[in-house]
Amino acid sequence: MSEGFTHKSGYIGIVGKPNAGKSTLLNYLVGQKLAITSPKPQTTRHRTLGILTTDDYQMVFIDTPGIHTPKDQLHQFMKQEVDTTLDDVDVVLFLADPTSPPDEDDLLALEYLKKQKKPAVFAFNKSDMKSTPNTELYGDILDRFPVIHISALRGTGCDELLDKILNLLPAGPKYFDEETVTDRSERFIVSELIREQIYNLFEKEIPYSVAVVTEEVKDRGDGMTYIQATIHVEKDSQKGIIIGSGGRMLKKIGQQARADIEEMLGTKVYLELWVKVKKNWRRDNSLLHQLGMDIIKKK
Ligand code: GDP
Ligand code: MG
Repeated sequence: MSEGFTHKSGYIGIVGKPNAGKSTLLNYLVGQKLAITSPKPQTTRHRTLGILTTDDYQMVFIDTPGIHTPKDQLHQFMKQEVDTTLDDVDVVLFLADPTSPPDEDDLLALEYLKKQKKPAVFAFNKSDMKSTPNTELYGDILDRFPVIHISALRGTGCDELLDKILNLLPAGPKYFDEETVTDRSERFIVSELIREQIYNLFEKEIPYSVAVVTEEVKDRGDGMTYIQATIHVEKDSQKGIIIGSGGRMLKKIGQQARADIEEMLGTKVYLELWVKVKKNWRRDNSLLHQLGMDIIKKK
């Protein structure tokens, strides 16, 4: 390290409307699949840290559920995850998706950005696709913050993005040791990888009615990891759909999720999936608690 060198570190909150590519960007930046992604909005429910450590800095990225108006208890939990994130961060990374027309969620996300006084970077994502950003919509926001065009999917512009963030990052220590890439447990990521396949395989309300809990992860000592997870649905009819005729769909979910889990763990995996009905879990605070999603009561 040279004379006068200052190590920088800090928390960077990635915010933006559902589907902007926040989780894709997090995975790209840390070089590992931590957060699940899908073309369906509102895939991300929990905030997840992705930690990028170099000799010069440590950036702790926070992936959040998209900003949108809460419609039930699950949404309220998701909005809370965004609000508490923005309170704590050093830098806000606002991600816009210029490939889809601006909507209610865009405006809500903009309101957040207008109000907040933290250093921020404004990124237009999906630069690999044709689009004409509606710059009028963003108004003076684009004058107040550094603006950059990136592709989270391909990594285009991401080095420049990191430079811009580094400029805004305060001096600070490494908060996490160098090997740590996330705050989430292996078990949590396993559940998420299973949930991602449900977004891939099912349409309409099914993905939104599902919560996955990984009950057991056991190293069997023969290079094989035994995993048992439960897929919770809201209604009996959904249970039938998830299982499929002769168990066809459940088998598919298992096969596809297993490939991702094996890549993460670096071992062979035996994955056992159960399906259970937890009536209306999205609207029930005590059930949300059981599923690891607590709504904190404001005083
Ligand atoms: P989030 O809701 O903001 O976390 O968005 P996701 O990361 O889940 O991404 C939503 C969808 O946009 C997924 O289908 C991604 O593959 C896609 N996506 C994300 N970034 C890019 C990008 O740079 N280019 C393109 N073409 N698609 C992207
Ligand atoms: Mg996401």
